[in-house]
Amino acid sequence: MIQVDLSGKQALIMGVTNARSLGWAIAEQLLQAGARCAFSYQDERQRPELERLTAPYAGSLLRRCDVGVEGELEALFSGLTQDFGRLDGLVHAIGFAPKAAMEGRFLDTARSDWTLTLEVSAYSFLAAARGAEPLLNRGAGLLTLTYHASQQVYPRYNVMAVAKAALETTTRYLAYELGPAGVRVNAISAGAMRTVAARSIPGFSSMYDHAARTAALQRNATQEEVGRLGLFLVSPLASGITGEVIYVDGGQHIMAMPADPSGVAKPS
Ligand code: NAP
Repeated sequence: MIQVDLSGKQALIMGVTNARSLGWAIAEQLLQAGARCAFSYQDERQRPELERLTAPYAGSLLRRCDVGVEGELEALFSGLTQDFGRLDGLVHAIGFAPKAAMEGRFLDTARSDWTLTLEVSAYSFLAAARGAEPLLNRGAGLLTLTYHASQQVYPRYNVMAVAKAALETTTRYLAYELGPAGVRVNAISAGAMRTVAARSIPGFSSMYDHAARTAALQRNATQEEVGRLGLFLVSPLASGITGEVIYVDGGQHIMAMPADPSGVAKPS
C-alpha cells in the first residue's frame, strides 16, 4: 500500500458517472489519502450517484458543469473560488463522441461530429486548466485520461483517436506554460476498461479481449491501478514529472505481436 498523505490538499474531479469511472478510481485514492475533493458533473441525473459515492467523505462539493455549454466552465471556477478555494489537483476524466462518428467510416466523419468530439474531449482540458489557473497552488498536479488509439489504429475509434492525440499534445503545451508556476500536467493512457463511456464504443469487447491477450502482463489493467497512478501523479511524489503520457495497460502498447503462447517465462 502506498502511503501518501494529502491532508489539507484539495482537488477538482471532472467526469464521474459511477464507481467504475476512471475519474472515481482516482478520486477514491485522493480521498483515502486525505484530500478534499470537488466534483463536476454534466447533468443533474448524475448527482444522486455522486452523492452516494461521496457520502463517506465529509466536505466533498458537487457542482454541475457541461463542458460543451458556453459559460459553464467559467461559472464552475468562479463558484469554486467562492465555495471551495485553492486547488492542488485537477483530474479531467471527460470524453464524448457522437455515436454516428464511431459507427461509420472515419472517412465519413461529419464536421459537426469532429468539432463536438474535439471540443468536449480535448479543448475542455485546456479550458479547465485556464479556469483553474488562478486557484492552483505551487506543486499542483493536473491530469487527464487518454488512450493508445492516439498512436495506433483501433478500428472504429475514429474521431475519438484524433481527440486523444490533441489531448496528449495539449498536455505537453500546458506543462510547458504552467511549469514556471510549479504546476505539473500529465496524462494517463489507460488500457481498455469496462465503463459507461467504453460501452458506447463499437467493438469495445474485442478491444478489451485483445488487450488481455497481447499485454505483457497477459491481463487487462484495472481501474484501481489507474487510481494509484493518478494518486502518485497528483501528489508531491511526482514533483519532477510533467508533460508525460504514462501507460497503465499491463504493457499492451509495448507489444507488436500477441504473446507467444509457449511463453518465455514460466508463469508462477
Ligand atoms: P465514464 O465513467 O463514462 O466517464 C466519462 C465522463 O465524461 C462521464 O462522467 C460523462 O458524463 C462525462 N462527460 C461527457 N460529456 C461531457 C460534457 N459535455 N460535460 C461534462 N462531462 C461530460 O467513462 P471513463 O471510461 O471513466 O472515461 C473517463 C476518461 O477515460 C475519458 O476521457 C475516456 O476516454 C478515458 N479512457 C477510458 C478508457 C476505457 O477503456 N474506459 C481507456 C482509456 C481512456 P455523463 O455520464 O453525463 O455522460
